[in-house]
Amino acid sequence: MEKKLPFTCPVCGRKKDYLLKELVEGAVLTCPFCRLTLTLHGHMWEDVQKEIEKAEAHDHEKVPGKKL
Ligand SMILES: [Zn+2]
Repeated sequence: MEKKLPFTCPVCGRKKDYLLKELVEGAVLTCPFCRLTLTLHGHMWEDVQKEIEKAEAHDHEKVPGKKL
């Protein structure tokens, strides 16, 4: 199963789930609600990276020694 991470739109505040592989530095994300287009970089990218790390760490805890 592909891992997903919710990303909160800074304009309308609504969340959309993105696949982790979509969340890379310089990725262009479009909010489906308000049509805001933003590029993932700088401060925002740092925050997303932290969320990705947390999501992956959590996953390792849940399935020790198992690869899915
Ligand atoms: Zn939005």
